[in-house]
Amino acid sequence: MKIINNGNLKLAVQKNGRLTENSIQLLRNCNLDIEKFDDRLLISIRNYQLDILFLRDDDIPEYVQDGVADLGIVGEDVVQEQNANVKVVKKLDFGKCKLGIGIPEDVELNDIRALENKRIATSFPNILNNFLIRNNIKATIITISGSVEVAPSLGIADYICDLISTGNTLKLNKLKSSITVLDSEAVLIKNKNLIKSSDKYQSYLKLLGRIESALNARNSKYLMMNVPQNSLSIILKIIPSLKSPTVLSLAKENELAVHAVIPAEKFWEIVDDLKSAGASGILLLPIENIVL
Ligand code: AMP
Repeated sequence: MKIINNGNLKLAVQKNGRLTENSIQLLRNCNLDIEKFDDRLLISIRNYQLDILFLRDDDIPEYVQDGVADLGIVGEDVVQEQNANVKVVKKLDFGKCKLGIGIPEDVELNDIRALENKRIATSFPNILNNFLIRNNIKATIITISGSVEVAPSLGIADYICDLISTGNTLKLNKLKSSITVLDSEAVLIKNKNLIKSSDKYQSYLKLLGRIESALNARNSKYLMMNVPQNSLSIILKIIPSLKSPTVLSLAKENELAVHAVIPAEKFWEIVDDLKSAGASGILLLPIENIVL
């Protein structure tokens, strides 16, 4: 692929796949103005010194390793399987999946040692091999490029090692999930030779700061409510605030407004306690960015 050398930072993302939508959404949350890209392989961002390359996810680690792209967003499983010489900078909290051992439904496998001398079919031979070496287990790895889950019923393998999410595909093939080999998610990767004194490096640091603030914001919400003055101390004990909550007086006597940034997943755990303690007009608002 011929890439224009315009001095812009180059970020590779998956074209048309599971990670594409979340990758683009994350970048939009970083205030990058990303136009419609349809079938284009490269777009330049109007409001940042950045070009986005759209590639097959299997190609991303190598392009970043070779410096064709400076950065990439790709599954950790792909990076590890290819043993790419890149720096994993940040986990991105989406594209989560588990690479695990699938076994026949009627087999009990509680101890990792039970993998000894078994034949395991997988499309991830390198990750599996490293896992077996780490655990000092000798097993035969059978590399298959797709539909790994049919291998046990065809008698080609005893077990499989594959990406598992709901477990439905395993169930259809009379298999079940057992030992976890890798918990994977989308990660930001970086070329190791990006020169620290370069303008590109400064653009990278700025982009990383924006990504971090967008990730912080995604897990937090802004909570607002009115509380009777005499309930304030109870309410403040209930709120799992990231920093000290804001308390404001209201026109109505003996009534206060309390605002706080809270971890999003805590809201439904505390809402009933807040109401019982007298809180009213409870609002929960999304936050776009948090700079800590
Ligand atoms: P795709 O080629 O579009 O299916 O995307 C594959 C990538 O998405 C994998 O390398 C994983 O990093 C990620 N992923 C997240 N959830 C799953 C899943 N349930 N099955 C396969 N891949 C997944």
